Amino acid sequence: MQASATELIAPRRQTHSVRVAGVVVGGGAPVVVQSMTNTDTADIDSTVAQVAALARSGSELVRITVDRDEAAKAVPHIRDRLLARGVSVPLVGDFHYNGHTLLADNPGAAEALDKYRINPGNVGFKDKKDRQFAAIVDTALRWKKPVRIGVNWGSLDQELLTRLMDENARAPEPKDARAVMHEAIVQSALISAQRAEELGMTANDIILSAKVSAVQDLVSVYTMLAGRSEYALHVGLTEAGMGSKGIVASTAGIGLLLQSGIGDTIRVSLTPEPGGDRALEVMVAQQILQSMGLRSFMPVVTACPGCGRTTSTVFQELAKRVQDMISERMPEWRRRYPGVETLNFAVMGCIVNGPGESKQADIGISLPGTGEAPAAPVFIDGKKMTTLRGPNIAAEFQKIVEDYIERRFGGAAPVDSPQARQTA
Ligand code: SF4
Repeated sequence: MQASATELIAPRRQTHSVRVAGVVVGGGAPVVVQSMTNTDTADIDSTVAQVAALARSGSELVRITVDRDEAAKAVPHIRDRLLARGVSVPLVGDFHYNGHTLLADNPGAAEALDKYRINPGNVGFKDKKDRQFAAIVDTALRWKKPVRIGVNWGSLDQELLTRLMDENARAPEPKDARAVMHEAIVQSALISAQRAEELGMTANDIILSAKVSAVQDLVSVYTMLAGRSEYALHVGLTEAGMGSKGIVASTAGIGLLLQSGIGDTIRVSLTPEPGGDRALEVMVAQQILQSMGLRSFMPVVTACPGCGRTTSTVFQELAKRVQDMISERMPEWRRRYPGVETLNFAVMGCIVNGPGESKQADIGISLPGTGEAPAAPVFIDGKKMTTLRGPNIAAEFQKIVEDYIERRFGGAAPVDSPQARQTA
C-alpha cells in the first residue's frame, strides 16, 4: 500500500518557541515566512515602501540592514511611518561589525526593532569579539528582544575554523575539509547560543541559522544543528542566485529540510533582476510551504500543461486570467473570507483529463480541445454544475467563482493580521 503524503513528511522537530513581537517562531507554530529589504535603511521613504510591500505580499517578519548611524537613526521613523500606514510587521535589524555601537548610541532603534540579528563571524575580532557580542546581548536583554545568531559560511569565525582544521590535521583519521567547515559552522552557532544563555538569555530568546550557498551543504549543516540542539531554526540558502537558479536551489534545500521536520522560519534569498519585484522571495517561500502541504496562503490553480490538443490560446488565456484574478482579489478575499486560501481550482485544456481533474477540485472548468464541441463544463464540489458556451466563458467563469466564494466563505468573521495569516 502507498504511504500518504502526510505519512511521508517527518513530524516537525520540537523546538523552543520564540516570540518576535506578535509572531511566534518555533515551538510547533506554523513555519514563518520572512524576507529582507534591499533599500538603504537611511532612505526612510524607500524602506517604508518596501517593508510595506513585503508585508502586504505576506512576509511575516521583515529584516532591514542597520549598518551605520544614519540607518540606525532612521529605524524609529520607519517604524512610526509603517504603523501610521497600518503595517505592524515585526522588524528585524541586521547588524555586522558595529552592531554593539549602533545599538548603544541609538536606543530609539534598539527599542523599535523586534529582533536583532548577530553574525558571530563578524561581531568583532580577537579580544573584542566576546565583549562586543556581550554588548549586543545586553542590549537585547534590556529591551526584551530576541536575537538570531546567524552564522554565514562566507563570514565564518576564522579563529574557530583554523583551530578545528588544525585539530583535524592531527587526528588519526582526518575528515575532509568540507566536513570540518560544516562542523565549524555548527559549532559557531552553538557556542554563541550557549554564550548568550550564560549572559542571561533563555532558549526562548534565541533563533539559530547557519547559511551556506549549496544545497547539500545546507542539508548537512542543518541536520547537524537540529540533532544537537532544540533552538528554533531559521532556514534558507545564502546567495541562492538569480531567477530560476535561485528559486530551484532554495526550493530543493528548504524543501528537503522541511520534509525532515527541520525549519521554523524560512527565507528565500533571491538576487532580484534589475527593477525586479523584491516580493518574489515572499511568493516563492509561500509556494514552497503551500506545495508541501504545510500552510495555505492562496488558492491553488491546477492547470494542465497543454499539448497538441490545445492549439488555440483560449486555454492559456483562461488559466492566466484565473491566476491573475486570484492575485488581484486575494487581499480582499483574505479579509472577507477566512479559509479561502485552501481552495483548489482546475483549468484544463481538453476532455482527456479535464473532467476528471475538474471533479477533484473545488471549482473546475474543462475547456474544449482542438476539434471538440465549443462547450466548457464547469464542476463544483465534484458535480457538473453548468456548461459555458460562446465568447464570454472567462467572464462567466469568474462570476461563478466569486459567487461560490461568497456562498461558501461569506459567513465567517473578517480577519486581517499577520498573526491570523500565520495560523492559517
Ligand atoms: S488535459 Fe488535454 S490538453 Fe491538457 S495536457 Fe492533457 S491531453 Fe493535453
